[in-house]
Amino acid sequence: MISYTLICDKDHEFAHHFDGYDDCQAQLQAKTLACPTCGSKDLVKGLSAPNVGGQSAPDFPTCPAASGCGNGACAMKG
Ligand SMILES: [Zn+2]
Repeated sequence: MISYTLICDKDHEFAHHFDGYDDCQAQLQAKTLACPTCGSKDLVKGLSAPNVGGQSAPDFPTCPAASGCGNGACAMKG
């Protein structure tokens, strides 16, 4: 599972989860996806896609422990 940023022809950006790069390309070519803001199906993959297999720059804070760190005081819990 990987999240890519998609941009429609009206410059609306949104994230969508794909099985991988090939799945992303296939769905873009098949136009199975639509912009949630305007419904456009003219989508391109954004340049801000995260690195595959990396966690260098998430868009939102997440606990570095994948299944929760067990620290009750962790602000990122949940
Ligand atoms: Zn749009």
